[in-house]
Amino acid sequence: MTRALYNDDAYRTEARAAVVAIGPGGIELHQTIFYPLGGGQPGDSGWLTMADGQRLRIAETRRDKATGSILHLPEGDASSLCTGMSVTLEIDWARRHCHMRMHSALHLLSAVVRHGVTGGNLSDTVGRLDFDTNGDMLDPNFIEHELNRLVAEDRPITNRLISGGELAAQPELIKTLSVKPPMHLPCIRLVEIEGIDLQPCGGTHVRRTSEIGELRVAKVESKGARNRRVVLAFAEIGS
Ligand SMILES: [Zn+2]
Repeated sequence: MTRALYNDDAYRTEARAAVVAIGPGGIELHQTIFYPLGGGQPGDSGWLTMADGQRLRIAETRRDKATGSILHLPEGDASSLCTGMSVTLEIDWARRHCHMRMHSALHLLSAVVRHGVTGGNLSDTVGRLDFDTNGDMLDPNFIEHELNRLVAEDRPITNRLISGGELAAQPELIKTLSVKPPMHLPCIRLVEIEGIDLQPCGGTHVRRTSEIGELRVAKVESKGARNRRVVLAFAEIGS
């Protein structure tokens, strides 16, 4: 299994790795800083540099559905790459940092809107969560105000590990109604925003809420009688 360095340090932008396998699905490495598509967060893009200086663009990272292996999808010709080769990895940090900021913003949103989450997704510019509100209306001005208050409070965001059994004993931590965390695993990562939010999550996050930056509620949409979709954007991008 590929060692997932982004779990230990989401801020790591470069690493060295050995090529384990090259297949039609992508390149497998012994360790990686590339986050694979999952939990609503896009897979990383970036570059892989060979010993002779040849650079290969990685367009996308995802997990093989059958094996769970992390696959790096090259853009262009990967024929000079071979198994066992040592390569340098570099992620597209500007894009990933936006993912980290928006992902952390969605944790704040799940704390501000106190309803079960039925789905979510994010990009480097926008993010959304769908809530089962039982028909309640949501006030975009209130949500935006609360989000920016929590951003300004500069709360620390930290990770810790618990067992599936411990998590099963605290079902109130699980806010996503549609996707259950992998309770069979010996270790599940909890992400805590001090005093605001605690939930299992495998994505990448910023260290403090101030790093998210100012947010804007781009829209609140009705998705059926019970469901409401809240779409966030970075305030600096404008409407
Ligand atoms: Zn998360």
